[in-house]
Amino acid sequence: MSKILLGCIADDFTGATDLANNLVRAGMRVVQTNGIPAQALTAEVDAVVIALKTRTIAPTDAIAQSLTALNWLKQAGSRQIYFKYCSTFDSWYGANDDAKRGNIGPVTEALMDAMDVDFTIATPAFPDNGRTVFKGHLFVGDVLLSESSMKNHPLTPMLDANLVNVMQAQCQRKVGLIDYRSVAAGFDAVTARIAELRAQGVGIAIVDAISNDDLMRLGPALADLPLVTAGSGVAIGLPQNFGIQATGESAAQAAALPAAKGWQAVVSGSCSQATNAQVAAWQASGQPHKALNLAAVLGSDAQSQAEVQSVLSWAKPFLTRGPVLIYSTADVESVKTTQTLLGSDATGARVEQALSAIAKGLVELGVQQLVLAGGETSGACVLALGVEQMQIGPQIDPGVPWCYGLSSKARETAGVNIHLTLKSGNFGSSDFFVKVFKLLQ
Ligand code: ADP
Repeated sequence: MSKILLGCIADDFTGATDLANNLVRAGMRVVQTNGIPAQALTAEVDAVVIALKTRTIAPTDAIAQSLTALNWLKQAGSRQIYFKYCSTFDSWYGANDDAKRGNIGPVTEALMDAMDVDFTIATPAFPDNGRTVFKGHLFVGDVLLSESSMKNHPLTPMLDANLVNVMQAQCQRKVGLIDYRSVAAGFDAVTARIAELRAQGVGIAIVDAISNDDLMRLGPALADLPLVTAGSGVAIGLPQNFGIQATGESAAQAAALPAAKGWQAVVSGSCSQATNAQVAAWQASGQPHKALNLAAVLGSDAQSQAEVQSVLSWAKPFLTRGPVLIYSTADVESVKTTQTLLGSDATGARVEQALSAIAKGLVELGVQQLVLAGGETSGACVLALGVEQMQIGPQIDPGVPWCYGLSSKARETAGVNIHLTLKSGNFGSSDFFVKVFKLLQ
């Protein structure tokens, strides 16, 4: 394998595909690895995105895994490192105040220490997907993060939209702001602002961006930073720094996947607003759907396993005729009620375990086009399927591409050579599940 240009570490699996999607659209050939690659990559690529599941684990573990990923990427020759987190800037929130700091800051600082870097940026802005940062405040669509549906997330509720404050609470280094005036004025102004912040002892700067043009202007000013931390949006402006242009032909070639085969299914464990609307649209379309029996899943192991088998038996006859949807997706009130028994973490883990057993069972039945909804949910599912590497294909909606499971070892695992989509909770139009398979024809 030749040396890679951009080495990326993503803190969840859907976020990784979101980033990879932006890089592919900007003309880079990209492979996503689910976890730290055990072996060399099978494809010739410009960028590698290592997907970790570190968004909702303890900071010490998140740091350890991120540093291992960094080492792998450095050995593969990466000229720049990109730490990718969620466009809603959320990460782990533990049960006590001490732990309520989140992982983004600690991982950023650990990477800075390991790379001996004195300055980096942090911005989750992705205007194409309705994530904008203005005067350091994150907006989700038209409302502040803290007024968005993220205030009710089952695992990582976000109650403050001021990212300078959020990041400062997670960091030892001083956090500053590169505001929209500098970004709008372009390369020289951003470079001057970075120099000014450095002189003030600022180690990490939140960056405003309210349009894709802002991100494209920002890109060149980041060329000399060994480490960039961001959501997926900043990635659209980076390939140009390596001399890669997104001409129609090169982007189409970078996104080509093998022809689709086999049966089709959607497995959804996301309870985000967008996913609730997507499940409702599927139900309205009259196609087969089955809600997970949560009482069984949260009961004994035997009850949970019986529920998995019962869902697979239900799906089998439908699969020959068209796609099915299996889901635990529920609205905020139902999620709160469900969590009362075991708490949010244990509930989430048990639901993820059941859904990933279902995803594996579906593939064993012959499903080869599989849509997974929810960051944590898809992480659990691709691990259960043994998909270690994914080639990134064409975009379905902003932030969500079709992918193709690649084999990295002699042992064939269930998810190899199938088409997969990992949909982040709040991404995708309301007819996402209905339209998604048509795009593979
Ligand atoms: P998103 O991308 O929307 O944040 P995730 O999969 O990352 O989705 O997170 C959703 C979490 O909620 C998962 O841990 C999942 O297992 C859990 N979950 C799914 N359905 C329910 C439910 N009905 N009640 C409680 N928790 C649920």
